[in-house]
Amino acid sequence: MKTIECAIIGSGPAGYTAAIYAARANLNPVLIQGMQPGGQLTTTNDVENYPGYPEGVTGPEMMEDFKKQAERFGTKIIFGTITSVKFNKNIGGLHQLTIDNKEEIQAKTVIISTGASAKYLGLESESRFMGSGVSACAVCDGFFFKNQDVVVVGGGDSAAEEATYLAKLCNKVYLLVRKNEMRASKIMQKRVFDTNNLEVLFNHETLEILGEKTVQSIKVIDTKENKEKVIKATGFFLAIGHNPNTEIFKNQLDMDEVGYLITKHDSSKTNMPGVFASGDAQDSIYRQAITAAGSGCMAALDAERYLADLN
Ligand code: NDP
Repeated sequence: MKTIECAIIGSGPAGYTAAIYAARANLNPVLIQGMQPGGQLTTTNDVENYPGYPEGVTGPEMMEDFKKQAERFGTKIIFGTITSVKFNKNIGGLHQLTIDNKEEIQAKTVIISTGASAKYLGLESESRFMGSGVSACAVCDGFFFKNQDVVVVGGGDSAAEEATYLAKLCNKVYLLVRKNEMRASKIMQKRVFDTNNLEVLFNHETLEILGEKTVQSIKVIDTKENKEKVIKATGFFLAIGHNPNTEIFKNQLDMDEVGYLITKHDSSKTNMPGVFASGDAQDSIYRQAITAAGSGCMAALDAERYLADLN
């Protein structure tokens, strides 16, 4: 079995930043990309708030830049998914990782940057129409709904971003917000309200997605008026937040009730020696590309120091 100094799980801003720092510190990192190479930003259209891109950049382009920078310093990038882990509780012990249920590697340090995944409402009709009108990624699937009417669910920045993105492509966008206010930042809300073909429906919840083979309409309830109605729409987009991708670390690493990994104060250290966590897998508060990148840097520095102390 191959033994390496540093394994990095995940390829979002946290993973690639950890790789850049670990590679420049001669840790010869191996980065395993995971199911969504480039992470959540590959489904984002315009990134306008990442320093260093004064004109903005698309998520996929930015992640390609991150990847190139990590490769430039010798990071080995593997297209695959970690399917199981066995962490070693002893200081200096080797951690075992299995890639795609086949290849096994052991690592002296592991940096977890597995990010988070989109949440769904949990309706039966939602899973039935998955890929046939139901999506959690407007940038990936919006094109298929060109000139059609669509519904977006959510009231945060993601919902505002997805809805305004779709409004450029679609005939009409309905944004269903379950409360009587949006959680999105003021600037994003302004964009929503300034968009002519975007209608915000406050106090609205989804009851069912209707159709035969594909989505044809959405049955909703106005909870203030206690009135049901049907909105004609062929696309149904979820933008209601995310869950951390930490399932495979259960029973080995400390996590909160939602599954966010718990790190020691002012560090990226988990409860396991040599295992560090960064990015959205451990951050339920900030969840930004820039904060994820910063925590990836912290994880690589912590890994480097841990290895130096062992020697
Ligand atoms: P948030 O957790 O901020 O918002 C989730 C939204 O979905 C809330 O409005 C919530 O409603 C609603 N919601 C949750 N569950 C349900 C449900 N079952 N039914 C109906 N509505 C539901 O998630 P986001 O993904 O929007 O944002 C996450 C983080 O990423 C934030 O920090 C955000 O600022 C950031 N972000 C920044 C962007 C940018 O700057 N360009 C773009 C996208 C995200 P309620 O308010 O009632 O709880």
